[in-house]
Amino acid sequence: MTALEEQVRVLLFSNHPVLPGQIATMLNSQRYCIRVADMPIAFDDDPPDVILVDVNHSPLDGERWLASVRQHETTVDVPIVLVTGKEDLERWIPQLEQGVVDYVTTPFGAAELRARISLVLRTRAMFEEARERHLRLERMSITDALTGLYNSWYLMHRCSEEVARAKRHRYPVSCLMLDIDNFKQVNDTYGHPAGNAVLGEMGGLLKANTRTSDVVGRYGGEEFLLLLPQTNRGEALVLAERLRKVVEEHRFRVGRASIQLTVSVGAATFPDRGIVGHETLVRHADRAMYRAKLGGRNRVVAG
Ligand code: GH3
Ligand code: MG
Ligand code: MG
Repeated sequence: MTALEEQVRVLLFSNHPVLPGQIATMLNSQRYCIRVADMPIAFDDDPPDVILVDVNHSPLDGERWLASVRQHETTVDVPIVLVTGKEDLERWIPQLEQGVVDYVTTPFGAAELRARISLVLRTRAMFEEARERHLRLERMSITDALTGLYNSWYLMHRCSEEVARAKRHRYPVSCLMLDIDNFKQVNDTYGHPAGNAVLGEMGGLLKANTRTSDVVGRYGGEEFLLLLPQTNRGEALVLAERLRKVVEEHRFRVGRASIQLTVSVGAATFPDRGIVGHETLVRHADRAMYRAKLGGRNRVVAG
């Protein structure tokens, strides 16, 4: 068997006296591994690749039986092929719209059954591939390639969501704007690639020193933005000061050497005077950060 022809695990639900035996004979090759059960709960955490449901020979009525197969955690994504008589087909057509992928009507031969199984598996594989590609692109579209943190587009999008949520539930949300001090010197002394590595390390440092509920991203160049849901001004300033200190004490690798860096941090909180939405929240944090620069760098200023 080639990799493309991995063994197909088929689970057949039927309490018909002879059909399971007939299907087992039809699928009697190395390619198939067939299990027969008469209850939907008969599977464990080793889900099959395809489920055949003999809807006319089930202990519950067919619809309820199908529903329980589809809701079961381990089989919710497994394609289902109905086995039914031609005369009953009308009854099962609506099921096709609800996740049942295909059907075979009795009497059917081995070639047809195998073709149906191959078809649903191919369709499922294409669907999975499309879903994975979509997820990958979605992740890429919100990620800053250099640091692996969120990018500025996502930060602003998330910021507007978090502020809307804060308004709805009447809790505060804070924002920290953090800019590396004299970063140009790093590039000038060690080169742009070393500067890039430092930015990556800074991203990791910020991520490692914040909660998973905090949203950490690169806002631009050597500027990082942190969104802190359900965090008031005092708590935001505590975190800002902690981060400032962590950075100050950290040694960043540049080639074989290591350097020390500092950051200037601006903090702002919604709601506050002049902060009415996500744009003013970020603007106030940015302005506060500039005041930190003017004040001598390596400090935290509240907006
Ligand atoms: P300040 O303390 O006032 O912030 O000084 P600074 O040197 O950090 O700020 P300035 O705005 O003068 O320069 C920012 C530097 O950051 C210059 C630019 O080359 C560098 N930079 C911005 N984005 C990147 C990047 O993606 N990679 C690298 N390596 N450097 C970057
Ligand atoms: Mg800077
Ligand atoms: Mg800057």
